Amino acid sequence: MDLSRVIRRNILALAPYSCARDEFKGEASVYIDANESPYNNGVNRYPDPLQHEVKVLLAARKGVSEDQIFLGNGSDEAIDLVYRIFCEPRIDNVVAISPSYGMYQVCADVNDIDYRPVSLTDDFQLDLPAIASKVDEHTKVLWICSPNNPSGNAFELRELESLVKTYRDLIVVVDEAYIDFSDKGSMLTLLDQYDNLIVLQTFSKAWGQAAIRCGIAFANPEIIRYFNRVKYPYNINVLTQQAAIRALSHPEVHDRHVEEILGGREILRILLGSLPFVEHVYPSDANFLLVRVKLDGMDNGQSADYIYRYLQNKGIIVRNRTRVHLCQGCLRITVGTSDEIASLYETLKTI
Ligand SMILES: *Cc1c(COP(=O)(O)O)cnc(C)c1O
Repeated sequence: MDLSRVIRRNILALAPYSCARDEFKGEASVYIDANESPYNNGVNRYPDPLQHEVKVLLAARKGVSEDQIFLGNGSDEAIDLVYRIFCEPRIDNVVAISPSYGMYQVCADVNDIDYRPVSLTDDFQLDLPAIASKVDEHTKVLWICSPNNPSGNAFELRELESLVKTYRDLIVVVDEAYIDFSDKGSMLTLLDQYDNLIVLQTFSKAWGQAAIRCGIAFANPEIIRYFNRVKYPYNINVLTQQAAIRALSHPEVHDRHVEEILGGREILRILLGSLPFVEHVYPSDANFLLVRVKLDGMDNGQSADYIYRYLQNKGIIVRNRTRVHLCQGCLRITVGTSDEIASLYETLKTI
């Protein structure tokens, strides 16, 4: 694709801030270029603006090259940057599946971009003709989340590839925040083939690092350069970089936790399915289950509200999704530890 056709004119022309450490690479003995404090307390120096050490480990783990990686202050920063780089406020629009992750719309609204949700089918599958009907000459981005939040299902890779292929002139973002819990495979395998593809992942879920706020965008090096030009110079602080390096240095912990959560997901599915008021447990490729509930004498929505409050009163917090498109009567439940699963089940049985 011709990137200059999808990037905003002001961003194409942008002269990025040049920080002190951009100009000198290597080891010196005296650093008096950045007005830092000279007294070493572990955090007195500015962090690496491009997070080289994190990216080396991540690139090896993911089978991509360092220049195909952008790190953001959570995936949320990457989502916001997609709008700021590609979408002209009040002129351009984006198309996204619905229901999906709320931040795509929030960031669209903040950036004054027309957000066009396209309903999934009743069983949460992609509706390709409906997507096509919303795309026009001002559409810059197509948002897909797979595995999707809140439905939990992942889309087939070949279906996602057909979207990336069909919409060669748009940026297609596939948010893979939950990919480590899915056996459907990652779009990263297609990164080298499609220069309009952006894949989002995060340290917040399977890596167990939600508090460090570190999200990842994978894309071709030219797109990554624009992310780096628009971001705040030191967007990933040194404590976050150290925590990410620590996590990536112990992938066996990640892998063990993913295995445990996948086991827990099946146990939770069976336990929930045995409850009389659980109408449906949706298939999940993520670390949560979406369940539709129905109590005697109430409709689905009232049942979800009732069970949500009942659990809350017992100190158990789940996500009430009943007011979300296609999710009437649904609760979203994260797979916790076996103790947490047991405690949820024992409490639900008393309803
Ligand atoms: C949790 C989640 C994220 C992660 O966001 P961070 O800002 O990286 O914590 C991204 N996308 C989806 C769909 C999510 O559910």
